[in-house]
Amino acid sequence: MTEESRKKAFWRADLVYTLILFIVACSCVAWFVAERGLLSGIYDWKTAAFFVVFGLFTISTGFPHQGFGHVSFDRVAQVSSILVLGPVDAAWVNGLASLIYPWHRLTKGVPVRQVLVAALNNSGLMTLVILLGGLLFEMLGGAIPLKVIDLRSAGLLLVLMLTMQFLNDLGMMAIIYFREMDPRSLFNAFTTAVESISVVVAVVVAIAFTTMPGIYFALLLVVLGIGMLIIRQYAFMRERLESLVEDRTEELRIQAIEFEHQATHDKLTGLPNRRYVDDFVERELELARRSGEKMTVALADIDLFKQINDTFSHAVGDEVLRRVAHLMSDRCRKSDIVARYGGEEFLLCFPDTNVEFAVQICNQIRLAVQNTRWSHIESKAGQRLSVTISFGIAESYDESRMTTLLRDADARLYRAKRSGRNLVIID
Ligand code: GH3
Ligand code: MG
Ligand code: MG
Repeated sequence: MTEESRKKAFWRADLVYTLILFIVACSCVAWFVAERGLLSGIYDWKTAAFFVVFGLFTISTGFPHQGFGHVSFDRVAQVSSILVLGPVDAAWVNGLASLIYPWHRLTKGVPVRQVLVAALNNSGLMTLVILLGGLLFEMLGGAIPLKVIDLRSAGLLLVLMLTMQFLNDLGMMAIIYFREMDPRSLFNAFTTAVESISVVVAVVVAIAFTTMPGIYFALLLVVLGIGMLIIRQYAFMRERLESLVEDRTEELRIQAIEFEHQATHDKLTGLPNRRYVDDFVERELELARRSGEKMTVALADIDLFKQINDTFSHAVGDEVLRRVAHLMSDRCRKSDIVARYGGEEFLLCFPDTNVEFAVQICNQIRLAVQNTRWSHIESKAGQRLSVTISFGIAESYDESRMTTLLRDADARLYRAKRSGRNLVIID
């Protein structure tokens, strides 16, 4: 199955799940409404309308959550409406608010299909969570409407809160599965704290609604509303600060990698520098000593490079260095290392390799350098550029140290120079 068709299958399963969830929720509410009648005869339509608007306000005082998009104070409206209207009316009232809310996302360019799924999903899940949680609360003898809080009702409210949280998380698990999100995003201390506080606020709202005169209740709502907006603002700030810290940490990490690279690599050729390769050779030599394998190093030096600079220019000299570096890296294996060891001097290190193989590679490089055409380069006097390179090779023995290995390679390189250059010397 391709990634595309796998995603489509998940999308379809998500849609089917959402539709089933919504239809089941509507059917359950319809069944209970048929049994009990609308508004249970306790309150009128104005009360229902108030809780729909209150529900919309609490959902919209939400804030983004790294894991699954949105956390809000909707629990306040949900629990308070259960405690005032009872589970059945609270279920459809909040289900309606959840169904209405997501449509504003259309103005932010979210596709209709996505908004529709979000609306049906939120509405279906909330309706069922409120209905089941509320029915359990009612069955256990929880007071509806709630007028005072005593030890018994406190215990039952705790049961209501935990049941709703459990059902909610169950629904979120399904979403997390279908949208292939990280399940760890479900468990967030800040969200849990907001939802727990929301239940306490909901209890205050419910008791105030049934016991306070309208004007005081309205005042309380204003105070609570402002409180929610402040928390929302705090959450936004927290989120922005977190992402700022994350961005900065990432920047510093990248900067540290860059600094490390700059400290260990040569700018002109991009090859590792002397500092880096010295450590590498020491390490490989130690490994070779332990495993009893051979290790070979080669010192390479461009012939008469000073003349190249003098005859053609320093810029041409730089180009030669870059090209030679490239030719060397191309011909070495991944496990080997080529470093710029000094001005026009390179060190090649071949771990687990005997001298015969190293000679072969060095000769290939030597011929590649010799055969490189520099047709675009010409001196003022019309001279054509040709470049050659010499090598001195040394193989490690049981107790060899880096200094002796490099001294041997250097002595052979010196002999290559004295013997006419463009040579690979082994002993
Ligand atoms: P030999 O064949 O004996 O090695 O002769 P040579 O001229 O190559 O040796 P010498 O050590 O006298 O010259 C090395 C020259 O390399 C001198 C220096 O100016 C030049 N050089 C060192 N680093 C750079 C660089 O980064 N760019 C350029 N263009 N030249 C450099
Ligand atoms: Mg040289
Ligand atoms: Mg030199």
